[in-house]
Amino acid sequence: MKELLLATTNNGKRKELFHLIGDRFEILLPSDLGIEMKVEETGTTFAENAVLKAESLGKLSGKMTFADDSGLEIDAMGGEPGIYSSRFGGEDSTYPEKFALIYDRLKDIPFEKRTARFRCAIALYIPGEETRVFEGKVEGIISNEPKGSNGFGYDPIFFVPEYGKCMAELDPEIKNQISHRANAIKLLVDYLNTRF
Ligand code: IMP
Repeated sequence: MKELLLATTNNGKRKELFHLIGDRFEILLPSDLGIEMKVEETGTTFAENAVLKAESLGKLSGKMTFADDSGLEIDAMGGEPGIYSSRFGGEDSTYPEKFALIYDRLKDIPFEKRTARFRCAIALYIPGEETRVFEGKVEGIISNEPKGSNGFGYDPIFFVPEYGKCMAELDPEIKNQISHRANAIKLLVDYLNTRF
């Protein structure tokens, strides 16, 4: 099986990625190679940050490397938290604290105007080639209150109109079919199928 080094230390994302492509590639983590991931996310877009991570780990390891960067964009907040999704409200703030901040900012915005989307950019570094980027998104609305316990991060406040439920209430199987990451990974897998 072809090796693919995964530049992420986030457990929730790792689980989803294993689920989506774990049977097609031997997925390696930096820890499997004794490498520590320390990349400053200094980019201004999801794509730039994904490329930074994939190239830094890929060049260090010499292996085909996959990195993703993702987050939540809320239109009524000018696209925030965006690339700062995990740091929103401070590095150590909990998700309930982040949700409270968001609800406070959206308190005068009616439900139908709370449009939002999860975005994901995946960068694929293949040694000696120009890094490629695959992007996916899923549209939703910020819910009236957090609901559900599946998934991670902002899933409890992300209402998915097609299912009439928050992302965290959906079966993980469903999330894995419709998510921003799933959409980006589909493009990546299509590409990998043309190559390997
Ligand atoms: P990253 O680790 O720099 O890609 O930051 C991603 C952050 O965006 C996560 O820590 C979450 O806060 C948020 N996020 C990304 N994908 C999801 C998702 O599928 N569900 C919920 N939150 C997500």
